[in-house]
Amino acid sequence: MSRRPFSLAHRESYLRFSSLALPRYTSYPAIPHWKDQLTLAAKGSELAAALEVGQAYSLYLHVPYCAKLCFYCGCQKEIMNPKSAAAQQKVEAFIQGLRDELALVAPAFQKAVLRHIHVGGGTPNFLNPEQWLQVKALIVAQLPTAPDLEWSVEVDPRTITEAHLETFAQLGVKRLSLGVQDFEDKVQKAINRIQPFSMVADLCQKARALGMNALNFDLIYGLPFQTRESIEGTLEKVLALRPDRIAYYRLAILPDLFAAQKNFAPEDLPQGKASMELNLLIQRRLQDAGYESIGLDHFALPEDALAIAARAGTLQRNFQGMTTGRDLPLLGLGPSAISSMGAVSVQNPKTTEAWLEALQQSETQLKAHHLTREDRLRKAIIDQIFCRSAIDVKELEQEFGEALIALFQEVLPDLRILEAEGLVSFDRHKCIRLTEPLGRLLQRVVASLFDAYLPRGAYLNGLEVGRASSVG
Ligand code: SF4
Repeated sequence: MSRRPFSLAHRESYLRFSSLALPRYTSYPAIPHWKDQLTLAAKGSELAAALEVGQAYSLYLHVPYCAKLCFYCGCQKEIMNPKSAAAQQKVEAFIQGLRDELALVAPAFQKAVLRHIHVGGGTPNFLNPEQWLQVKALIVAQLPTAPDLEWSVEVDPRTITEAHLETFAQLGVKRLSLGVQDFEDKVQKAINRIQPFSMVADLCQKARALGMNALNFDLIYGLPFQTRESIEGTLEKVLALRPDRIAYYRLAILPDLFAAQKNFAPEDLPQGKASMELNLLIQRRLQDAGYESIGLDHFALPEDALAIAARAGTLQRNFQGMTTGRDLPLLGLGPSAISSMGAVSVQNPKTTEAWLEALQQSETQLKAHHLTREDRLRKAIIDQIFCRSAIDVKELEQEFGEALIALFQEVLPDLRILEAEGLVSFDRHKCIRLTEPLGRLLQRVVASLFDAYLPRGAYLNGLEVGRASSVG
Protein backbone atom coordinates (compact mmCIF):
# COMPACT_ATOMS: atom_id res chain seq x y z
CA MET A 1 0.00 0.00 0.00
CA SER A 2 1.35 3.44 -0.86
CA ARG A 3 2.13 5.99 1.84
CA ARG A 4 -0.09 8.71 0.36
CA PRO A 5 -1.65 10.95 3.01
CA PHE A 6 -5.21 10.29 4.07
CA SER A 7 -7.15 13.43 3.10
CA LEU A 8 -10.13 14.86 4.96
CA ALA A 9 -12.44 13.56 2.20
CA HIS A 10 -10.89 10.10 2.54
CA ARG A 11 -11.45 10.19 6.29
CA GLU A 12 -15.11 11.00 5.79
CA SER A 13 -15.56 8.21 3.23
CA TYR A 14 -13.67 5.77 5.45
CA LEU A 15 -15.85 6.61 8.46
CA ARG A 16 -19.03 6.25 6.42
CA PHE A 17 -18.16 2.86 4.90
CA SER A 18 -16.09 1.26 7.67
CA SER A 19 -19.06 1.03 10.04
CA LEU A 20 -20.93 -1.20 7.55
CA ALA A 21 -21.35 -4.87 8.45
CA LEU A 22 -20.22 -6.97 5.46
CA PRO A 23 -18.71 -10.45 4.84
CA ARG A 24 -14.94 -10.98 5.10
CA TYR A 25 -14.89 -13.04 1.88
CA THR A 26 -12.58 -15.84 2.94
CA SER A 27 -15.01 -17.74 0.70
CA TYR A 28 -17.49 -16.82 -2.00
CA PRO A 29 -20.33 -17.21 -1.43
CA ALA A 30 -19.96 -16.59 2.33
CA ILE A 31 -20.85 -19.76 4.31
CA PRO A 32 -24.34 -18.58 5.42
CA HIS A 33 -25.29 -18.61 1.72
CA TRP A 34 -24.14 -22.15 0.96
CA LYS A 35 -27.19 -23.96 -0.27
CA ASP A 36 -26.20 -27.59 -0.96
CA GLN A 37 -25.61 -30.65 1.16
CA LEU A 38 -23.49 -33.76 0.83
CA THR A 39 -23.02 -36.75 3.08
CA LEU A 40 -19.94 -37.34 5.17
CA ALA A 41 -19.61 -40.69 3.37
CA ALA A 42 -19.43 -38.88 0.00
CA LYS A 43 -17.16 -36.05 1.18
CA GLY A 44 -13.84 -37.71 0.22
CA SER A 45 -14.87 -38.83 -3.26
CA GLU A 46 -16.67 -35.58 -4.16
CA LEU A 47 -13.64 -33.52 -3.16
CA ALA A 48 -10.97 -35.80 -4.63
CA ALA A 49 -12.81 -35.92 -7.98
CA ALA A 50 -11.28 -32.49 -8.64
CA LEU A 51 -7.70 -33.80 -8.19
CA GLU A 52 -5.39 -35.14 -10.90
CA VAL A 53 -3.19 -38.17 -10.27
CA GLY A 54 -0.14 -37.00 -8.28
CA GLN A 55 -1.66 -33.60 -7.55
CA ALA A 56 -0.61 -31.89 -4.32
CA TYR A 57 -3.16 -30.74 -1.77
CA SER A 58 -3.22 -29.28 1.69
CA LEU A 59 -4.82 -30.47 4.95
CA TYR A 60 -6.41 -28.29 7.61
CA LEU A 61 -6.84 -29.91 11.00
CA HIS A 62 -9.02 -28.24 13.64
CA VAL A 63 -8.19 -28.91 17.31
CA PRO A 64 -11.24 -27.68 19.23
CA TYR A 65 -9.95 -27.32 22.82
CA CYS A 66 -8.57 -24.43 24.89
CA ALA A 67 -7.48 -24.10 28.51
CA LYS A 68 -9.08 -20.69 29.10
CA LEU A 69 -11.68 -18.52 27.43
CA CYS A 70 -10.49 -15.32 25.72
CA PHE A 71 -13.45 -12.93 25.86
CA TYR A 72 -13.12 -11.71 22.26
CA CYS A 73 -12.99 -15.20 20.72
CA GLY A 74 -15.18 -16.23 17.79
CA CYS A 75 -13.51 -19.59 17.09
CA GLN A 76 -15.05 -23.04 17.45
CA LYS A 77 -13.68 -24.28 20.78
CA GLU A 78 -14.43 -25.99 24.08
CA ILE A 79 -12.81 -24.79 27.32
CA MET A 80 -11.35 -27.47 29.62
CA ASN A 81 -8.62 -27.91 32.18
CA PRO A 82 -6.04 -29.87 30.14
CA LYS A 83 -4.84 -31.73 33.25
CA SER A 84 -8.30 -33.08 34.11
CA ALA A 85 -9.21 -36.71 33.45
CA ALA A 86 -12.33 -35.50 31.57
CA ALA A 87 -10.16 -33.46 29.19
CA GLN A 88 -7.89 -36.40 28.47
CA GLN A 89 -10.91 -38.62 27.73
CA LYS A 90 -12.23 -35.99 25.33
CA VAL A 91 -8.87 -35.67 23.58
CA GLU A 92 -8.74 -39.45 23.19
CA ALA A 93 -12.24 -39.39 21.66
CA PHE A 94 -11.09 -36.57 19.36
CA ILE A 95 -8.07 -38.58 18.17
CA GLN A 96 -10.34 -41.58 17.57
CA GLY A 97 -12.61 -39.22 15.58
CA LEU A 98 -9.65 -38.20 13.43
CA ARG A 99 -8.84 -41.87 12.88
CA ASP A 100 -12.45 -42.48 11.79
CA GLU A 101 -12.61 -39.45 9.52
CA LEU A 102 -9.30 -40.34 7.89
CA ALA A 103 -10.57 -43.89 7.30
CA LEU A 104 -13.64 -42.41 5.55
CA VAL A 105 -11.88 -39.98 3.25
CA ALA A 106 -8.45 -41.56 2.72
CA PRO A 107 -9.43 -44.14 0.02
CA ALA A 108 -10.36 -41.27 -2.34
CA PHE A 109 -7.01 -39.51 -1.76
CA GLN A 110 -4.62 -42.36 -2.60
CA LYS A 111 -3.96 -40.89 -6.07
CA ALA A 112 -2.96 -37.46 -4.68
CA VAL A 113 -0.08 -36.19 -2.52
CA LEU A 114 -0.42 -34.39 0.79
CA ARG A 115 1.98 -31.44 0.61
CA HIS A 116 1.08 -29.16 3.51
CA ILE A 117 -0.67 -29.45 6.89
CA HIS A 118 -1.98 -26.46 8.80
CA VAL A 119 -3.18 -27.05 12.35
CA GLY A 120 -5.52 -24.48 13.87
CA GLY A 121 -8.03 -24.23 16.64
CA GLY A 122 -8.87 -23.85 19.44
CA THR A 123 -5.38 -24.51 20.71
CA PRO A 124 -3.36 -27.17 18.85
CA ASN A 125 -0.89 -27.39 21.75
CA PHE A 126 -3.77 -28.51 24.00
CA LEU A 127 -2.75 -31.97 22.76
CA ASN A 128 0.43 -33.15 24.47
CA PRO A 129 3.59 -34.06 22.48
CA GLU A 130 2.85 -37.79 22.62
CA GLN A 131 -0.64 -37.19 21.24
CA TRP A 132 0.89 -35.15 18.40
CA LEU A 133 3.13 -38.07 17.47
CA GLN A 134 0.00 -40.26 17.38
CA VAL A 135 -1.79 -37.79 15.10
CA LYS A 136 1.15 -37.67 12.72
CA ALA A 137 1.33 -41.48 12.64
CA LEU A 138 -2.39 -41.63 11.78
CA ILE A 139 -2.03 -39.19 8.91
CA VAL A 140 1.03 -40.74 7.29
CA ALA A 141 -0.44 -44.22 7.64
CA GLN A 142 -3.58 -43.21 5.72
CA LEU A 143 -2.52 -40.57 3.20
CA PRO A 144 0.36 -40.58 0.69
CA THR A 145 2.54 -37.63 1.70
CA ALA A 146 5.21 -35.61 -0.08
CA PRO A 147 8.78 -36.27 1.14
CA ASP A 148 9.06 -32.59 2.04
CA LEU A 149 5.68 -32.40 3.78
CA GLU A 150 5.34 -28.97 5.43
CA TRP A 151 3.53 -28.24 8.68
CA SER A 152 2.40 -24.97 10.15
CA VAL A 153 0.79 -24.77 13.58
CA GLU A 154 -1.10 -22.11 15.54
CA VAL A 155 0.15 -21.96 19.13
CA ASP A 156 -0.81 -20.35 22.42
CA PRO A 157 2.28 -18.81 24.07
CA ARG A 158 0.71 -19.27 27.53
CA THR A 159 0.46 -23.05 27.38
CA ILE A 160 3.08 -24.29 24.94
CA THR A 161 5.99 -26.20 26.51
CA GLU A 162 9.56 -26.88 25.39
CA ALA A 163 8.54 -30.50 24.80
CA HIS A 164 5.82 -29.30 22.40
CA LEU A 165 8.35 -27.18 20.52
CA GLU A 166 10.81 -30.05 20.22
CA THR A 167 8.04 -32.36 18.99
CA PHE A 168 6.80 -29.81 16.44
CA ALA A 169 10.37 -29.40 15.17
CA GLN A 170 10.64 -33.18 14.91
CA LEU A 171 7.35 -33.33 12.93
CA GLY A 172 8.84 -30.90 10.42
CA VAL A 173 6.92 -27.78 11.47
CA LYS A 174 8.54 -24.73 9.89
CA ARG A 175 5.95 -22.03 10.57
CA LEU A 176 4.43 -21.15 13.94
CA SER A 177 1.55 -18.75 14.21
CA LEU A 178 1.43 -17.10 17.63
CA GLY A 179 -1.78 -15.69 19.10
CA VAL A 180 -0.43 -12.41 20.48
CA GLN A 181 -3.43 -10.01 20.25
CA ASP A 182 -2.04 -7.13 22.37
CA PHE A 183 0.82 -6.52 24.80
CA GLU A 184 -0.76 -3.95 27.13
CA ASP A 185 -1.61 -5.19 30.66
CA LYS A 186 -4.95 -3.39 30.88
CA VAL A 187 -6.08 -4.77 27.52
CA GLN A 188 -4.88 -8.29 28.36
CA LYS A 189 -6.86 -8.23 31.62
CA ALA A 190 -10.00 -7.03 29.85
CA ILE A 191 -9.81 -9.83 27.28
CA ASN A 192 -8.90 -12.48 29.89
CA ARG A 193 -5.63 -13.34 28.19
CA ILE A 194 -2.52 -12.55 30.22
CA GLN A 195 0.74 -13.18 28.37
CA PRO A 196 3.67 -10.92 29.16
CA PHE A 197 6.10 -9.78 26.48
CA SER A 198 8.88 -11.90 28.03
CA MET A 199 6.77 -15.06 27.50
CA VAL A 200 6.29 -14.35 23.79
CA ALA A 201 9.92 -13.24 23.33
CA ASP A 202 11.13 -16.44 24.97
CA LEU A 203 8.90 -18.55 22.69
CA CYS A 204 10.19 -16.77 19.57
CA GLN A 205 13.77 -17.32 20.62
CA LYS A 206 13.25 -21.03 21.36
CA ALA A 207 11.27 -21.66 18.16
CA ARG A 208 13.94 -19.98 16.04
CA ALA A 209 16.70 -21.95 17.79
CA LEU A 210 14.87 -25.17 16.79
CA GLY A 211 14.69 -24.11 13.13
CA MET A 212 11.10 -22.84 13.18
CA ASN A 213 12.14 -19.55 11.67
CA ALA A 214 8.92 -18.56 9.97
CA LEU A 215 6.88 -16.81 12.63
CA ASN A 216 3.48 -15.22 12.25
CA PHE A 217 1.82 -12.98 14.86
CA ASP A 218 -1.94 -12.61 15.09
CA LEU A 219 -2.91 -9.25 16.59
CA ILE A 220 -6.25 -7.55 17.07
CA TYR A 221 -7.33 -3.91 17.13
CA GLY A 222 -10.71 -2.75 18.39
CA LEU A 223 -10.20 -4.43 21.81
CA PRO A 224 -11.30 -2.71 25.06
CA PHE A 225 -9.04 0.09 26.33
CA GLN A 226 -6.86 0.21 23.22
CA THR A 227 -5.67 3.73 22.49
CA ARG A 228 -3.11 5.24 20.14
CA GLU A 229 -0.55 5.09 22.97
CA SER A 230 -1.32 1.48 23.87
CA ILE A 231 -1.13 0.34 20.24
CA GLU A 232 2.19 2.24 19.87
CA GLY A 233 3.44 0.27 22.89
CA THR A 234 2.27 -3.07 21.45
CA LEU A 235 3.76 -2.30 18.03
CA GLU A 236 7.11 -1.41 19.57
CA LYS A 237 7.26 -4.82 21.23
CA VAL A 238 6.06 -6.64 18.10
CA LEU A 239 8.73 -4.93 16.01
CA ALA A 240 11.42 -5.85 18.54
CA LEU A 241 10.57 -9.53 17.83
CA ARG A 242 10.24 -8.96 14.06
CA PRO A 243 7.92 -11.80 12.97
CA ASP A 244 7.96 -12.54 9.23
CA ARG A 245 4.21 -12.07 8.94
CA ILE A 246 1.63 -10.11 10.87
CA ALA A 247 -2.14 -10.40 10.67
CA TYR A 248 -3.67 -7.38 12.45
CA TYR A 249 -7.39 -8.17 12.52
CA ARG A 250 -10.22 -5.78 13.35
CA LEU A 251 -12.20 -7.29 16.24
CA ALA A 252 -15.48 -8.66 14.92
CA ILE A 253 -17.95 -7.51 17.55
CA LEU A 254 -20.87 -9.96 17.45
CA PRO A 255 -22.00 -10.52 21.08
CA ASP A 256 -25.16 -12.34 20.04
CA LEU A 257 -22.97 -14.96 18.34
CA PHE A 258 -19.99 -14.90 20.73
CA ALA A 259 -21.47 -14.55 24.23
CA ALA A 260 -18.14 -13.89 26.02
CA GLN A 261 -17.98 -10.53 24.23
CA LYS A 262 -20.80 -9.43 26.55
CA ASN A 263 -17.99 -8.96 29.12
CA PHE A 264 -16.98 -5.84 27.18
CA ALA A 265 -18.66 -2.53 28.00
CA PRO A 266 -19.42 -0.83 24.66
CA GLU A 267 -17.92 2.44 25.93
CA ASP A 268 -14.53 0.72 26.47
CA LEU A 269 -14.30 -0.34 22.80
CA PRO A 270 -12.66 1.99 20.28
CA GLN A 271 -15.19 2.74 17.58
CA GLY A 272 -15.76 5.08 14.66
CA LYS A 273 -13.04 7.72 14.44
CA ALA A 274 -10.96 6.14 17.23
CA SER A 275 -10.96 2.78 15.43
CA MET A 276 -10.02 4.43 12.13
CA GLU A 277 -7.08 6.20 13.83
CA LEU A 278 -5.84 2.87 15.21
CA ASN A 279 -6.05 1.22 11.80
CA LEU A 280 -4.18 4.08 10.11
CA LEU A 281 -1.55 4.07 12.85
CA ILE A 282 -0.98 0.31 12.44
CA GLN A 283 -0.71 0.59 8.65
CA ARG A 284 1.76 3.48 8.85
CA ARG A 285 3.90 2.12 11.66
CA LEU A 286 4.31 -1.36 10.12
CA GLN A 287 5.18 0.05 6.73
CA ASP A 288 7.68 2.47 8.30
CA ALA A 289 9.29 -0.58 9.91
CA GLY A 290 9.74 -2.29 6.52
CA TYR A 291 6.65 -4.53 6.34
CA GLU A 292 4.70 -4.69 3.09
CA SER A 293 0.92 -4.47 3.17
CA ILE A 294 -0.38 -7.68 1.59
CA GLY A 295 -4.04 -6.78 1.55
CA LEU A 296 -6.77 -6.15 4.07
CA ASP A 297 -5.10 -6.91 7.42
CA HIS A 298 -1.99 -8.88 6.42
CA PHE A 299 1.62 -7.64 6.43
CA ALA A 300 4.88 -9.41 5.61
CA LEU A 301 8.60 -8.67 5.46
CA PRO A 302 9.75 -8.11 1.85
CA GLU A 303 11.66 -11.42 1.69
CA ASP A 304 8.68 -13.48 2.94
CA ALA A 305 6.89 -15.69 0.37
CA LEU A 306 3.63 -13.78 0.89
CA ALA A 307 5.22 -10.43 0.04
CA ILE A 308 6.99 -11.98 -2.96
CA ALA A 309 3.67 -13.45 -4.19
CA ALA A 310 1.94 -10.08 -3.72
CA ARG A 311 4.58 -8.33 -5.84
CA ALA A 312 4.36 -11.08 -8.48
CA GLY A 313 0.55 -10.87 -8.62
CA THR A 314 0.19 -14.54 -7.60
CA LEU A 315 -1.38 -14.02 -4.19
CA GLN A 316 -4.47 -16.09 -3.40
CA ARG A 317 -7.10 -16.05 -0.68
CA ASN A 318 -8.71 -19.03 1.04
CA PHE A 319 -10.48 -19.93 4.28
CA GLN A 320 -7.28 -19.29 6.23
CA GLY A 321 -6.66 -15.83 4.79
CA MET A 322 -4.05 -14.74 2.24
CA THR A 323 -1.79 -17.43 0.78
CA THR A 324 1.03 -17.59 -1.76
CA GLY A 325 0.52 -18.75 -5.34
CA ARG A 326 0.91 -22.30 -4.09
CA ASP A 327 -2.65 -22.21 -2.78
CA LEU A 328 -3.55 -25.89 -2.82
CA PRO A 329 -6.88 -27.71 -2.85
CA LEU A 330 -7.88 -28.01 0.79
CA LEU A 331 -9.08 -31.03 2.78
CA GLY A 332 -10.44 -30.13 6.24
CA LEU A 333 -10.60 -32.62 9.11
CA GLY A 334 -12.06 -32.16 12.60
CA PRO A 335 -15.08 -30.26 13.92
CA SER A 336 -16.09 -27.21 11.83
CA ALA A 337 -13.23 -27.77 9.35
CA ILE A 338 -13.85 -26.56 5.81
CA SER A 339 -12.70 -28.37 2.66
CA SER A 340 -12.57 -26.85 -0.80
CA MET A 341 -11.52 -28.55 -4.05
CA GLY A 342 -12.54 -27.65 -7.59
CA ALA A 343 -16.11 -26.36 -7.47
CA VAL A 344 -17.03 -28.07 -4.18
CA SER A 345 -16.80 -26.66 -0.66
CA VAL A 346 -18.05 -28.49 2.43
CA GLN A 347 -17.99 -27.86 6.17
CA ASN A 348 -17.85 -30.53 8.89
CA PRO A 349 -20.40 -30.35 11.75
CA LYS A 350 -19.42 -27.45 13.98
CA THR A 351 -19.26 -28.86 17.49
CA THR A 352 -17.04 -31.77 18.52
CA GLU A 353 -20.09 -33.67 19.74
CA ALA A 354 -21.96 -33.27 16.43
CA TRP A 355 -18.81 -34.19 14.47
CA LEU A 356 -18.24 -37.36 16.52
CA GLU A 357 -21.91 -38.32 16.14
CA ALA A 358 -21.78 -37.76 12.38
CA LEU A 359 -18.76 -40.05 12.13
CA GLN A 360 -20.92 -42.84 13.54
CA GLN A 361 -23.65 -42.13 10.95
CA SER A 362 -21.80 -41.35 7.76
CA GLU A 363 -25.03 -40.58 5.86
CA THR A 364 -25.23 -37.35 7.93
CA GLN A 365 -25.66 -34.37 5.61
CA LEU A 366 -22.98 -31.68 5.71
CA LYS A 367 -23.37 -28.05 4.67
CA ALA A 368 -21.85 -27.66 1.20
CA HIS A 369 -21.79 -25.52 -1.90
CA HIS A 370 -21.17 -26.33 -5.56
CA LEU A 371 -19.99 -23.22 -7.39
CA THR A 372 -22.14 -22.33 -10.39
CA ARG A 373 -20.61 -20.63 -13.43
CA GLU A 374 -21.95 -17.32 -12.18
CA ASP A 375 -20.44 -17.97 -8.72
CA ARG A 376 -17.10 -18.66 -10.39
CA LEU A 377 -17.20 -15.35 -12.27
CA ARG A 378 -18.10 -13.34 -9.17
CA LYS A 379 -15.54 -15.24 -7.06
CA ALA A 380 -12.81 -14.52 -9.63
CA ILE A 381 -13.59 -10.79 -9.41
CA ILE A 382 -13.67 -10.82 -5.60
CA ASP A 383 -10.36 -12.74 -5.48
CA GLN A 384 -8.76 -10.10 -7.73
CA ILE A 385 -10.08 -7.32 -5.45
CA PHE A 386 -8.42 -8.88 -2.39
CA CYS A 387 -5.26 -10.24 -3.99
CA ARG A 388 -4.44 -7.53 -6.53
CA SER A 389 -6.51 -4.54 -5.40
CA ALA A 390 -7.69 -4.32 -8.99
CA ILE A 391 -10.13 -5.94 -11.39
CA ASP A 392 -8.48 -6.85 -14.68
CA VAL A 393 -11.56 -6.82 -16.91
CA LYS A 394 -9.59 -7.79 -20.02
CA GLU A 395 -8.14 -10.89 -18.36
CA LEU A 396 -11.50 -11.99 -16.95
CA GLU A 397 -13.23 -11.33 -20.27
CA GLN A 398 -11.11 -14.04 -21.89
CA GLU A 399 -12.48 -16.61 -19.45
CA PHE A 400 -16.04 -15.40 -18.90
CA GLY A 401 -16.88 -13.48 -22.13
CA GLU A 402 -20.46 -12.20 -22.42
CA ALA A 403 -21.36 -13.01 -18.80
CA LEU A 404 -18.66 -10.62 -17.59
CA ILE A 405 -19.81 -7.83 -19.88
CA ALA A 406 -23.41 -8.26 -18.70
CA LEU A 407 -22.34 -8.18 -15.04
CA PHE A 408 -20.34 -4.97 -15.54
CA GLN A 409 -23.25 -3.30 -17.27
CA GLU A 410 -25.35 -4.16 -14.22
CA VAL A 411 -22.91 -2.85 -11.61
CA LEU A 412 -21.50 0.14 -13.50
CA PRO A 413 -23.77 2.76 -11.86
CA ASP A 414 -22.73 1.47 -8.42
CA LEU A 415 -19.05 1.42 -9.41
CA ARG A 416 -19.40 5.07 -10.46
CA ILE A 417 -20.73 5.85 -6.98
CA LEU A 418 -17.66 4.19 -5.43
CA GLU A 419 -15.48 6.12 -7.89
CA ALA A 420 -17.07 9.40 -6.71
CA GLU A 421 -16.45 8.33 -3.09
CA GLY A 422 -12.77 7.82 -3.95
CA LEU A 423 -12.63 4.02 -3.52
CA VAL A 424 -11.97 2.98 -7.13
CA SER A 425 -10.60 4.48 -10.34
CA PHE A 426 -10.93 3.33 -13.97
CA ASP A 427 -7.83 3.16 -16.15
CA ARG A 428 -7.42 3.05 -19.91
CA HIS A 429 -6.45 -0.61 -19.96
CA LYS A 430 -9.83 -2.04 -18.93
CA CYS A 431 -8.70 -2.26 -15.37
CA ILE A 432 -10.53 -0.99 -12.28
CA ARG A 433 -8.13 -0.15 -9.48
CA LEU A 434 -8.80 0.20 -5.79
CA THR A 435 -7.36 3.53 -4.72
CA GLU A 436 -4.54 3.78 -2.22
CA PRO A 437 -4.99 3.93 0.67
CA LEU A 438 -8.79 4.34 0.84
CA GLY A 439 -9.99 1.65 -1.58
CA ARG A 440 -7.49 -0.89 -0.22
CA LEU A 441 -8.67 -0.31 3.33
CA LEU A 442 -12.25 -0.84 2.17
CA GLN A 443 -11.75 -3.90 -0.06
CA ARG A 444 -14.75 -5.61 1.57
CA VAL A 445 -17.03 -2.77 0.43
CA VAL A 446 -15.91 -3.04 -3.21
CA ALA A 447 -16.15 -6.85 -3.08
CA SER A 448 -19.70 -6.73 -1.70
CA LEU A 449 -20.82 -4.94 -4.85
CA PHE A 450 -20.21 -8.19 -6.76
CA ASP A 451 -21.91 -10.45 -4.20
CA ALA A 452 -25.14 -11.80 -5.71
CA TYR A 453 -26.25 -13.21 -2.35
CA LEU A 454 -26.50 -9.84 -0.58
CA PRO A 455 -29.49 -7.52 -0.79
CA ARG A 456 -29.14 -4.85 -3.45
CA GLY A 457 -27.30 -1.78 -2.15
CA ALA A 458 -25.57 -3.71 0.68
CA TYR A 459 -22.29 -2.01 -0.29
CA LEU A 460 -23.88 1.31 0.74
CA ASN A 461 -26.06 0.18 3.64
CA GLY A 462 -24.35 -2.92 5.06
CA LEU A 463 -26.13 -5.94 6.49
CA GLU A 464 -28.28 -6.15 9.56
CA VAL A 465 -26.15 -5.65 12.71
CA GLY A 466 -25.13 -9.05 14.08
CA ARG A 467 -25.06 -10.80 10.67
CA ALA A 468 -21.49 -9.79 9.83
CA SER A 469 -18.62 -7.81 11.33
CA SER A 470 -17.98 -4.16 10.49
CA VAL A 471 -15.49 -3.38 7.77
CA GLY A 472 -12.94 -1.25 9.66
S1 SF4 B 1 -8.70 -16.98 21.15
FE1 SF4 B 1 -7.70 -18.91 20.77
S2 SF4 B 1 -6.97 -19.56 22.80
FE2 SF4 B 1 -8.50 -17.96 23.16
S3 SF4 B 1 -10.43 -19.08 23.45
FE3 SF4 B 1 -10.29 -18.54 21.28
S4 SF4 B 1 -9.38 -20.28 20.26
FE4 SF4 B 1 -8.99 -20.49 22.47
